[in-house]
Amino acid sequence: MKKVTLLIPVYNEAETLPALYERLLELIERNHAYDWEILFVNDGSSDATLEEIRALRRNDSRVNYVNLSRNFGKEIAMLAGFDFTTGDCCVIMDADLQDPPELVDEMLKYWEEGYDDIYARRRNRGEESWLRRRLSLTFYQILQKMSRIDILPNVGDFRLLDRRCILTLRKLREQERYTKGLFCWIGYQKKGIEFDRGDRVAGKSSWSFFKLLNLAIEGITSSSTAPLRLATVCGLLCSASSFIYAIYFLFKTLLFGDETTGFPTLIVVILFLGGIQLFSLGVIGEYIGRIFRETKGRPAYIASDYNEKKLGYE
Ligand code: UDP
Ligand code: MG
Repeated sequence: MKKVTLLIPVYNEAETLPALYERLLELIERNHAYDWEILFVNDGSSDATLEEIRALRRNDSRVNYVNLSRNFGKEIAMLAGFDFTTGDCCVIMDADLQDPPELVDEMLKYWEEGYDDIYARRRNRGEESWLRRRLSLTFYQILQKMSRIDILPNVGDFRLLDRRCILTLRKLREQERYTKGLFCWIGYQKKGIEFDRGDRVAGKSSWSFFKLLNLAIEGITSSSTAPLRLATVCGLLCSASSFIYAIYFLFKTLLFGDETTGFPTLIVVILFLGGIQLFSLGVIGEYIGRIFRETKGRPAYIASDYNEKKLGYE
């Protein structure tokens, strides 16, 4: 029997877990031709999430969990999930039921047809402010232009991955992760299906504006070096125009003599160049920062427990 893993990163989701588990049971009922594993990755929750999961596991041996030693963020939590999945395929979904489990039936159908990566594209984006939606779409446009791989807009992490995708993703151990980019990077046979994204059943989104901004910078700098090129191009343009400006001044002085004016121009040019230099330094710094963090070679996460077993003694 083929085994399907439901990989669910959870961070302070105690309120949503009972409702989630109900819906997952319905899904499992409908598809008993498969073995099922429900793998929770508890990402250092500070509420009763872990107790909830343990309670579920006591009654249902299909429930497994990895408990991380602190909050590492969803991207890293997913990596931990990849390391611990045992299924022939793996469905990543959010705990808040914004990713409807009903869609998994369709994903399984395509998986049986031989697709490796069946992703869900949302037709709408659920309850979200206009600004957030606008910013997020602009971000995807920029990202698309800058990176060489296609990163699909309105596609989240909700998808079914064949085991070989999981094994490949396990090899990508970078710590500054932008998993959406990685899914595209690994390639394989992809298939998109559409769905309507609902709203959270309970609790609230743990993504603040700044967390999202960070994720956006993460997305751009981890899948593209275009910002570095932008700095080069700015530099080139500035030197070229200042060269032309210099020739203009040379002739002006030779023909009409020199009266000392142009103080405002001078200040503007100095400030402009200063700005560009600082910006470029920042961009370079962004990449050096990643090199710095990556060269330390730390493990991406620390797992503290797998089911009843305490980890960290090996
Ligand atoms: N999540 C996580 N670690 C975090 C933040 C979130 O594992 O640091 C999980 C969270 O429990 C949920 C999923 O990632 O299952 C998506 O989170 P959320 O619903 O807050 O994000 P949104 O739907 O607003 O993108
Ligand atoms: Mg959500």
